Amino acid sequence: MNRFCPICACQRNTYLYKQNFNNKDISLMESYDVVVCSNCGFVYADNIPSQDDFNNYYTVMSKYEFDYKNGVVSNSYIEHFTKIVNFLIPHITDFNAKILDIGCSTGALLSIFKLNGYSNLLGIDPSPSCVRATKELYNIEASVNNIFNFNTNEKFDLIILSAVLEHLVDFNNSMQKIRSLLKDRGLLFIEVPDAERFVLYISMPFQQFSIEHINYFSQNSIRNLLSKFSFEIIELQKNENRINQSIDPDIFILSRKSNENNFIIKRDDICELKIRNYISQCAELDLKIKKVIQEKLSNKNKIIVWGVGTHTQRMLGSILDLSKILFFVDSNIRYIGKKLKGIEIKSPSDIKEEGIPILISTYSYQEEIAYQIKEILKLNNEIITIY
Ligand SMILES: [Zn+2]
Repeated sequence: MNRFCPICACQRNTYLYKQNFNNKDISLMESYDVVVCSNCGFVYADNIPSQDDFNNYYTVMSKYEFDYKNGVVSNSYIEHFTKIVNFLIPHITDFNAKILDIGCSTGALLSIFKLNGYSNLLGIDPSPSCVRATKELYNIEASVNNIFNFNTNEKFDLIILSAVLEHLVDFNNSMQKIRSLLKDRGLLFIEVPDAERFVLYISMPFQQFSIEHINYFSQNSIRNLLSKFSFEIIELQKNENRINQSIDPDIFILSRKSNENNFIIKRDDICELKIRNYISQCAELDLKIKKVIQEKLSNKNKIIVWGVGTHTQRMLGSILDLSKILFFVDSNIRYIGKKLKGIEIKSPSDIKEEGIPILISTYSYQEEIAYQIKEILKLNNEIITIY
């Protein structure tokens, strides 16, 4: 669908880049366009499915369940969530404060509040197995809901939107909902990727334009959004999100629900330039990586490709020769049994073919997967890495 600017509702935009995913079966869409709003300068993805389609996708295709580890997250997540909690604690002096984490995944962030003595915690997540894990792992209350269908008479002192806003098609209904869930002068914590600094953190080309990330916030645009819905900013911090091998720039923003509305759009002139720079640097790196992969695969007849995420989907349109791929492998049980370009996706435990090299098609989890192949699955297949 054609999307108006989710912040200022302007209908005019300028096209910056087309991100191709090449497969609708597992990724919701074939492609989207990265555009910049002609009025406020917000950068976002256009020609995307509706909010309902995304809601459905997150219910059935969640990759935040950590199923293969029973919902337990790695230490890097715990360190990151601890950073968030430490940022918030000075502002929440009451241990009985009602805290709601929207998109709570398996509950790890709330569990750190619990460790710090906070007891009035609730998580919601569209994925039933995330909610189950939150209850079972940490004994924290949680329910299967997204922000749109969640209804309660309770009002909260603090609402957390960590890594949520960049996923939403519809800001109007979600921000109105959040206002209605907050007490007067209640707090809203937001963590989003910092699009102004994408160019400083390139690990794999175009990784920021993922299937699920459809809004690219700068400090200016998040200020515009909060101002539109009458939130006053208390503290804004530039940060880093270090998960496994990837480091991404992000912003922490704490704001307070206010009743004053003096919303004026402050046009963001910087983000477009930074994103254009990011796109051109990614294009250069893309060419280099294509060369590496072509060389590594030139003498291989058949390969197994591990990972079916954005990284692989982008390569299917250009670098990867489909006739060489015996099958795909992925740890996410949602993908298993489905097909990518007509080629089957199998579970790691189904790899029986000795002698067929395995291409690890991911940046963030490369070392983890290599370890899994060698030490857990005890496979002797040659491992081909890209990074
Ligand atoms: Zn706009």
